[in-house]
Amino acid sequence: MSDQAVLHVTGRVLLGPREDQVRDEVWVVGGRVSYDRPAGARDVRTVRGWALPGLVDAHCHVGLDAHGPVPADVAEKQALTDREAGTLLIRDAGSPSDTRWIDDRADLPKIIRAGRHIARTRRYIRNYAWEIEPEDLVAYVAQEARRGDGWVKLVGDWIDRGLGDLSACWPREAAEAAIAEAHRLGARVTAHCFAEDSLRDLVEAGIDCVEHATGLTEDLIPLFAERGVAIVPTLVNIATFPALAAGGEAKFPRWSAHLRRLHERRYDTVRAAYDAGIPVYVGTDAGGSLAHGLVAGEVAELVKAGIPPLDALSATAWAAREWLGRPGLEEGAPADLVVYEEDPRADVRVLAGPRRVVLNGRIVE
Ligand SMILES: [Zn+2]
Repeated sequence: MSDQAVLHVTGRVLLGPREDQVRDEVWVVGGRVSYDRPAGARDVRTVRGWALPGLVDAHCHVGLDAHGPVPADVAEKQALTDREAGTLLIRDAGSPSDTRWIDDRADLPKIIRAGRHIARTRRYIRNYAWEIEPEDLVAYVAQEARRGDGWVKLVGDWIDRGLGDLSACWPREAAEAAIAEAHRLGARVTAHCFAEDSLRDLVEAGIDCVEHATGLTEDLIPLFAERGVAIVPTLVNIATFPALAAGGEAKFPRWSAHLRRLHERRYDTVRAAYDAGIPVYVGTDAGGSLAHGLVAGEVAELVKAGIPPLDALSATAWAAREWLGRPGLEEGAPADLVVYEEDPRADVRVLAGPRRVVLNGRIVE
């Protein structure tokens, strides 16, 4: 399909969550969205159904597997699996691989990178992160802010083997200086946090987002809400806590029990965050131990937690794109969209089976 070919998307084009944001049709010309039928259009292909902007996976890792960085052909397969699921915009939440080459591939999802994870020495999964001490945090954050696409990823807590439990990785002052440095460089900061005890310091230090956030408690929720700190719960990943807990039981019983408690209250945590007005976004954590392409499953989990379906949908569509500073289906935007046979607003399970995926104006065959 050449760039000159025209695509006619017809049915219900969902430009936003409200009924007055639905159009009967849009056109795709030169890879971009147009609301007007192009004059003299030849070679028109029609796609019919309910169209959403390309889905967002706000916590995904391309170029990574359970053991560390992977070769380019494996990273490509990961990106293609995401594409097939309708994920056309990824916020990569940390990767030791250089995946810049993907930016030159119009057939692969767009990626917003957070550089490589920054962790405390021996306090994260092997081969993933820069492992450093607090006195070097500002320098590493600056380095990753320059390498990434507007985000930096910290590992905020992890098991402390001496303690036998999860514990915070960064002293407050180090986090504060590092986050200020990222902001000075125009980058936002997010952190992996499973437990409770790192959250207050990170939020008061100015963090923009927290991944997983299973340790959000009633006393912390107003603080997040007041500061507008977003969370990406990755419930499809939290589902693996009982298995992790079972595996670590013998050596780290306190840690295991802690994971189980966090897992048990995961839906209540997400629902309470949502109810308090904390922005919640869809992320799958694909690429560590989890498979790619699980975006529909994560939306379903958010609904199960008690988030209304339309807001859960927005957390992977309109709201997520706005949060990441990327367009939806505005006129002139790159034509990245997913078309379904039924209305995903009525039942989010529809997301599991896209009829058509259109990326940069091209139908994915
Ligand atoms: Zn992750």
